[in-house]
Amino acid sequence: MAKKIALVTGSTSGIGLAIALKFAKDGYIVALNSFESEADVSDIVGQIKSETKNPVVYFQADLAKTGAGEELVKAVIEKFGRIDILVNNAGVQKVAPIDEFSSSDWNRIRSINLDASFETIKTAIPDMKNRGWGRIINISSVHGLVASPFKSAYIAAKHAVIGLTKTAALEVAQNGITVNAICPGYVFTPLVEKQLKDQMRVHNLSKEEVVEQIMLANQPTKKFIHPQEIAAMASFLCSDMAISITGASMVIDGGYTAR
Ligand code: NAD
Repeated sequence: MAKKIALVTGSTSGIGLAIALKFAKDGYIVALNSFESEADVSDIVGQIKSETKNPVVYFQADLAKTGAGEELVKAVIEKFGRIDILVNNAGVQKVAPIDEFSSSDWNRIRSINLDASFETIKTAIPDMKNRGWGRIINISSVHGLVASPFKSAYIAAKHAVIGLTKTAALEVAQNGITVNAICPGYVFTPLVEKQLKDQMRVHNLSKEEVVEQIMLANQPTKKFIHPQEIAAMASFLCSDMAISITGASMVIDGGYTAR
């Protein structure tokens, strides 16, 4: 059987990198992506290559640009002849009160977190339908289910990702394709590290106070989640035993949304 081709967007850091590493270990051919130049990510690409005998190929694409998601999937199909697994992981965040949120930040956050997923999904589905097998995973967030102040664009986009997931799942339910969202709570990654600084500024708190009073205040375990936990869920969703899980939002949040 041909090896499965998996594209993970935003896979040079944090959760996407953990998923790419897990997929390499699972034996998939992995297509990596970020907006960075190939030279800037050579160490990371080398790290993933060391985990697998299969090809690992980097595709530079800035998913903030209209059409980039579509072009990215087309480039993967052109290179490997198919796409079996698509993980829409690339995401950015900004913390600011809504009345100070610029329209350009709003558009950028929506483009990367939501519009790019629409483009990759619509471009990948015909190819998956042709073979009657596919797995699409969209990395949403607990902020796709509940809100917090000062993250209007991110929360709006992550809620919309869940709506997109459900709709796509219904449309391809009889084609052997599953479409699911994963909703992590706070996972310690560079995205969260950057947010720490923003939160310190917006709330006028120290680093320790932000972690305790803001980030982990609603995470009952009081612990950050590891990127590998999200990767393990992604890996399971790609397995044959996950064939009946579709249109779902898989929550990995240390109890965040249980309240
Ligand atoms: P991260 O900042 O560590 O990694 C983000 C990745 O996206 C990087 O590889 C980056 O290069 C890529 N990226 C950013 N802008 C891009 C663009 N314009 N085009 C292409 N790639 C781009 O972030 P992370 O914490 O690993 O987050 C990954 C996903 O998980 C995001 O969708 C995020 O919203 C979601 N998430 C994260 C957390 C968390 O606590 N870290 C919680 C819930 C959901």
